[in-house]
Amino acid sequence: MSAQRLDGKACAAEVERALAKRIAALSDDGIVPHLAVIIVGDDPASHVYVNSKVRTCERLGIRSTHIELPADTDEAVLKDHVEKMNHQDDLHGILIQSPLPSHMDEEAITDMIHPSKDVDGFHPQNLGRLVQGRVDGLLPCTPSGVMRMLDWAGIELAGKRAVVLGRSRIVGMPAALLLAARGADATVTVAHSKTESVETICSEADIIVAAVGRPEMVQASWVKPGAVVVDVGINRVDDASRERGWRLAGDVDPAVEDVAGWLSPVPGGVGPMTIAMLMENTVRSAELRRDLGSE
Ligand code: NDP
Repeated sequence: MSAQRLDGKACAAEVERALAKRIAALSDDGIVPHLAVIIVGDDPASHVYVNSKVRTCERLGIRSTHIELPADTDEAVLKDHVEKMNHQDDLHGILIQSPLPSHMDEEAITDMIHPSKDVDGFHPQNLGRLVQGRVDGLLPCTPSGVMRMLDWAGIELAGKRAVVLGRSRIVGMPAALLLAARGADATVTVAHSKTESVETICSEADIIVAAVGRPEMVQASWVKPGAVVVDVGINRVDDASRERGWRLAGDVDPAVEDVAGWLSPVPGGVGPMTIAMLMENTVRSAELRRDLGSE
């Protein structure tokens, strides 16, 4: 058996087509959705992510402001940017690319972003809504991208056993909340680095969402035949056979393809969905502001 492909690229293209119509409607009202992306430092992977976000904005007709700050920037300077952007009327979304340099308090800075412009969905107010079961706010992009992809593929979650590997604020925990929320209705187990017998827990799951940052950790022997496996991981592993000396690996061993019913590829799975959801949050934020203005 070979797993069906959970094709994030195709799903993201469909999200973009729907967004194009919403962006045109905003334009009829004289509004151009506008996203600011701030990057601090010179982490090469972060620059690749930011460029890809900016390119997607350009393709969709979303205005983007791209601010690059050196690694030794004073935290107060970054906070000053956020403060000004919070008050900028024609700006709908603020994204601070993670990771920030170690001298900065990443949580404190994301907490400063006004919740209505928090297109990453990390502000306590937006995460708090999710904890309350309100899934109509600005949701974290990677977990909401996972949910959208599962829905797009017609995968039934209600009553199913789901295991989320990882409990981070940006992926694992919100993914678990979304899977367990009313409407999705899965029964969810969250595993982390202290979890015992993670293989046994996974082997009972109908759905596995792997977000651990450990290359190819999830083995074929852990997966129930026919299970749905979503690979969130993006890891660089050394590979002397490649000209550049490395390759991208997910958190799931490629041999899982022979056992699973569905498997998301890396790259081309959750990655494109994360960007699509960021665009959707930006458009949604612009729509909400328009609707507030017309009340
Ligand atoms: P974090 O490092 O913040 O969290 C990793 C989580 O995995 C932690 O909760 C940790 O547990 C858990 N963990 C570590 N080892 C094990 C183990 N052996 N068994 C079970 N759980 C374990 O990572 P992120 O959540 O930010 O990211 C996870 C992965 O997803 C990374 O590869 C990242 O690159 C990728 N990613 C991909 C995105 C995309 O767009 N596709 C977007 C964001 C992230 P504990 O809490 O106990 O430490």
